[in-house]
Amino acid sequence: MKLIRFGPVGNEKPGIINKRGVKLDVSGFGQDYNEHFFENDGIKRLITWLSKNIDSCPTASDAERLGPPICRPSKIVCIGLNYTQHALESGMQLPKEPVLFFKSTTAICGPNDPVIIPKGSQKTDWEVELAVVIGKKTSYVSEEEAMAYVAGYTVHNDVSERAFQLEHEGQWVKGKSSDTFAPLGPWLVTSDEIDDPNNLDLWLKLNGETMQNSNTADMVFKIPHLISYTSQFMTLLPGDVISTGTPFGVGMGLDPQRYLKAGDEMELGIDGLGVAKQLVKNY
Ligand code: ZN
Repeated sequence: MKLIRFGPVGNEKPGIINKRGVKLDVSGFGQDYNEHFFENDGIKRLITWLSKNIDSCPTASDAERLGPPICRPSKIVCIGLNYTQHALESGMQLPKEPVLFFKSTTAICGPNDPVIIPKGSQKTDWEVELAVVIGKKTSYVSEEEAMAYVAGYTVHNDVSERAFQLEHEGQWVKGKSSDTFAPLGPWLVTSDEIDDPNNLDLWLKLNGETMQNSNTADMVFKIPHLISYTSQFMTLLPGDVISTGTPFGVGMGLDPQRYLKAGDEMELGIDGLGVAKQLVKNY
């Protein structure tokens, strides 16, 4: 199933994409896609509800804004340097264990919302990533059991300000957390629809030019390991996002380096998870 949320910022309604690709409003189900929804078998309950009510669900107009496909989660955990060539282009060593960092949840926005270059930024950069959405609370989960805790997958642009991240007492969290630095969507695709999340093409174009073009098979640490590893250090709650790292081709790695400016358009997508498009604006 493909879950969407649509409507004005902060007032999104839950919806789905039906088999014909039409957006349906499922607010009649009575629950948004939040922690409580995932924790209490929301996906299963929604399927049951739809089996009786799908014909009476209103359609949502294509003109409606898409919001992030999940409510604001308790945390976004990001994995750094998880593709070999990206570690090299960043001038960093390939890590022996996953590199974890947080991204502020206030950075979350819709898949086609503008990305805002923050005040004082010189080096705002792009990063297409496969984001895993957790479906059940877990800690100390084994690799073997980890995939049972996945609700689904979505596209994430891990927008990054490299000077905030790496210069002047830079911290990764500082460079990753500005408003609009985490566009999610267009859809949350439930895990049953993705045969092998470790084998999906992912790409990003800037103003029509392909900048990133890779496959999640190139990840150094695979999804079961990332979930298990993260859960050794924190409890994962339903709706939490683990963003699995970006492949080669970010602006920082180019010679000369290239960063986003107002008027640029990013388009990014992952096999089976849809396409997002973001116009860049100044604060
Ligand atoms: Zn990233």
